[in-house]
Amino acid sequence: MANKIHLIPEEIIRQIAAGEVITRPADAVKELVENSIDAHASKIAVILENGGIDRMIVEDNGEGIQPGELKLAFELHTSSKITQDNIHNVSTLGFRGEALSSIGSVSRVKIRSKVESEEFGSELIMENLRIISQNQVRMSKGTRIEISGLFHNYPARRKFLKSVATEKRHILTVMTHFCLTYPDIHFTVGERKGNTVSSVLESPTRKELLAVLFDVFGPEITSGLVPIRGNVGYWKITGYISKPILVRKDRKFQYLSINGRLIRNTELVTQIERAYGSQLLKSNYPVIILSLKGDYNLVDYNIHPQKLEVRFREDDPIFHEISTLVQETLVEKSEIQQLPHKKAPNVSNAEIDLQEGYEPLISTKEVIPGESFVQTSLEEITPQNNSVNHTRAVFVQGGFRVLGHIFNKFALIEKDSELWLMDVHASDERVKFERYQEHRESLVMSQTFLKPVSVSINSGELDLLVELQDTFQKFGFQYSIQHLTSTILIHGVPVYYDQRLDKDSLHKLINDFLTADTNIEISSKFNAIEYRVVSRLACHGAVRSGYPVSERKVAEILSNLLKCNSPWTCAHGRPTIIRISHSKLESWFKRQGQ
Ligand code: ADP
Ligand code: MG
Repeated sequence: MANKIHLIPEEIIRQIAAGEVITRPADAVKELVENSIDAHASKIAVILENGGIDRMIVEDNGEGIQPGELKLAFELHTSSKITQDNIHNVSTLGFRGEALSSIGSVSRVKIRSKVESEEFGSELIMENLRIISQNQVRMSKGTRIEISGLFHNYPARRKFLKSVATEKRHILTVMTHFCLTYPDIHFTVGERKGNTVSSVLESPTRKELLAVLFDVFGPEITSGLVPIRGNVGYWKITGYISKPILVRKDRKFQYLSINGRLIRNTELVTQIERAYGSQLLKSNYPVIILSLKGDYNLVDYNIHPQKLEVRFREDDPIFHEISTLVQETLVEKSEIQQLPHKKAPNVSNAEIDLQEGYEPLISTKEVIPGESFVQTSLEEITPQNNSVNHTRAVFVQGGFRVLGHIFNKFALIEKDSELWLMDVHASDERVKFERYQEHRESLVMSQTFLKPVSVSINSGELDLLVELQDTFQKFGFQYSIQHLTSTILIHGVPVYYDQRLDKDSLHKLINDFLTADTNIEISSKFNAIEYRVVSRLACHGAVRSGYPVSERKVAEILSNLLKCNSPWTCAHGRPTIIRISHSKLESWFKRQGQ
């Protein structure tokens, strides 16, 4: 029998090892940019094709690599940075000597580099680390590395790559970190499509953190930040934290760095958040941009393959002292919050920035094939039998009489020989639902806003909104996505969206899409996702429960409801109308037979 156990070929070992250091394009970009920073570059440019999946280029004006050492840089465990003496005290970002060899073993690499002292630079083209060609090139000092076809020879990994949009977002997150941590380096990120490169991110030429923050996060976030500075534990701390009124829905806006290296440390973040106390509501997180400077041997970096997690020394008082510094900072700045605010958002809604008194304007008219959505014409008829309260009643097409709206929820209607109790919201939702359904093949009219409304979202929501953009658009919901600041700009909503566009309703709308129940009333015509979009839009577009509704509106809803295919339940399956017969009423009042 042939041996089953055999030596794994070195190439495969390398690929597996590479898969631990590099799991997606953003990891490669991070390693390459760190190398550029270590080479003291003052300008670093990144160019992406298809979110880095097809190609990424990192170019710097740093010290460069000697022509004879170009190949060496790609050998496993080669580094110019780590020595026996400095293993616990490395000041550079890279120090494992495995980034280039890892990246190289799972891609095609073209590297060119030139040092100051040489007249020419040299270029190396490799595929899975095998040299294909080597040339002399004319270039200025620095290094340019082009990585294409990441994981082309490692299908198991390539399969795990997400959409272009998601991979691009990860790269932008990494690059945003760099912009914030190294305000004095000029970073650019461009995206190449065909022959054109469009700029995606560029750090400002003004080399201060606040300028970077303004560029990266925009005015809304920046104006909610306060500077923080002090000595805590063994560390010198500088940076910005947000006033309690500026909160986010996730921790994406929290950046920690130690001696210029980005790190994650949940314990530290938790201590900072604790300092906000009750000013911070559940599931709200402050914005944190903190840089820690101190001795290199105060933390252990070698506990994470990508060097992200660090371990602080056990006797480091930082965890006790950080809360005090944060509290003092917040108290000191609290006068600012008491100044008259244009419109102080309440904490839970601070992430949604809406214009005050904003009303949507209808300005777009999309073409709708066939019949347009004609409002039922209402006839107001003075009732024949002039009893006292009847002058307010509204009749629609002769069939019923709206008696009133109670508890801001239910309408009372006299219909033939029945008393109807109508859930106004549920009924309107049914009407809207069927209209969306009916017109799902065509464009739905959208009402666009003069000024787009910006809503902050978290990364899960962002992915979903990217994915659903076409579906939403079909239903008249138009938005653009700003990856960097995790916001969507809403340009238009469907004409059926009856609600005032306020903070609450928009926020709920987005949140609900994430949690929506997909297994209700899925007709064969709809696929689940469209159903979800439609039922949510219908629900959010409908008049709200708990608000006053005019009797005229009730009549309009009822008249439309009666034209629906399934008038008796809302899209979620709840009843729209409860009918009580005349005889039932009689029996309750013991009037039978009288
Ligand atoms: P490490 O960064 O851990 O040393 P890498 O595999 O990332 O290991 O890089 C190997 C070596 O290649 C580095 O030590 C450095 O000498 C050289 N190098 C890589 N990228 C650059 C660059 N952009 N500019 C100058 N030297 C570089
Ligand atoms: Mg490195």
